[in-house]
Amino acid sequence: METTKVLNTKELPFCKGCGHHLIAQNTAKAIEDLGIHVLDVIFVTDIGCHGIIDKSLNTHTVHGLHGRSVALGAGISMGLPPHKKVIVFIGDGGATIGLQHILEAARLNVNLTVVVHNNFLYGMTGGQLSGLTPKGFNTIITPNGSPYGEHDICAIVHAAGANYVSRVIGIGDYSETIKKALTTPGFSLVEVMEICPSYGVKFNPKRKLQEIVEAANKPIKTWTNNREPFQFAERKTVSNLFDKTPVIEPLHKEKKLNKQIQVVLSGSAGEGVQLAANILCKAAVKHGYNITQKGTYPVTVGVGFSNAEVNISPDEILFHGLSNPEYVIVTSQDGLDFSKGTIKQMQPHQWLLIDNSLPIPETNAQVLSFDFRGKGAKNAVLASLFFFARLSDIIETDTLKSILEEMGMHEKFPFTIIEQELNELTLKQ
Ligand code: SF4
Repeated sequence: METTKVLNTKELPFCKGCGHHLIAQNTAKAIEDLGIHVLDVIFVTDIGCHGIIDKSLNTHTVHGLHGRSVALGAGISMGLPPHKKVIVFIGDGGATIGLQHILEAARLNVNLTVVVHNNFLYGMTGGQLSGLTPKGFNTIITPNGSPYGEHDICAIVHAAGANYVSRVIGIGDYSETIKKALTTPGFSLVEVMEICPSYGVKFNPKRKLQEIVEAANKPIKTWTNNREPFQFAERKTVSNLFDKTPVIEPLHKEKKLNKQIQVVLSGSAGEGVQLAANILCKAAVKHGYNITQKGTYPVTVGVGFSNAEVNISPDEILFHGLSNPEYVIVTSQDGLDFSKGTIKQMQPHQWLLIDNSLPIPETNAQVLSFDFRGKGAKNAVLASLFFFARLSDIIETDTLKSILEEMGMHEKFPFTIIEQELNELTLKQ
């Protein structure tokens, strides 16, 4: 990606006059002025109007559960070298829900910048009060003014040990404050005071932002500490967690794929779906491709479906989401139930490989049935990879076989039967 622009659009998705526009623009300006590459930036957001910024960003983005973005961001930051900038956008509602996460990240002084969009209410759900709603501020459930005192998030985060904390009025250019937060090692937080035109102004029609902030006795100022930023003990010997990632040497085989494709493995939990996806990824890497793998399964990891999405590409993969898989491989009824919707959308140039005990679902894809489960429930998904390899010609069955041997999984695997079936398949073709 060549762009140095953080925002990919001037049309941000917020209501007219919403201060979230300015937060996004000021943060973008700070990053660009500092010359930080957009792919060195990871924005973490969560539920709330602020979180719909994701699609407008050219950086990496991660969207989490309500109030959990600081915990997510802290975890991401802990696994990355310090030149990567993890920035959390969170609302006052999320900051209330996840206050303990914020305090822990400040206490540990994790390298992280949190920008609190404090418009004094939950905007996305209609204007309810949060823990940062000033006393006396009207919300939909306190139309005569909140009777409760609010948290002073800057004061408590500073007390918890953050190296840089600043409160600004969210009007005009405050990018210098965000720059300072981004360049201070350790935990930083900027609380941007704003007012939601759709609910805050509606419920408090005659009040100005500045006056609300002053009445709440919230000083516009900066607090600092000078503590050591968080470091894993093992960072003394390892510069980042990726250093521990095993290196797979490519086999220097000819690459047959000239564009990114997506492969879905859908089966049952406990039947090795994620492991098989991992083996597929290793094989693809051995053939010189880039890969991503994403697993989805219920919290009860031993029952129900298990689904793996694998991207394989000759080029760098910048988006790993699933949109339109070229191959869907289904090995059990659980997998079929889970992937039915995706399969229904498939088109004639795409392939469904399905266990022959299952009904053929509605689809326009080309369908091939094989006896995957006949190799044993635990071998079904692995077996399907050999049929995928033969059909797609992207990886070789020998590569899969060598990986199973390296992993010590070859002795119980029915290679002979599979080779026989693949030979018959070749003859039929
Ligand atoms: S509802 Fe309020 S906070 Fe949400 S986008 Fe609209 S103005 Fe902004």
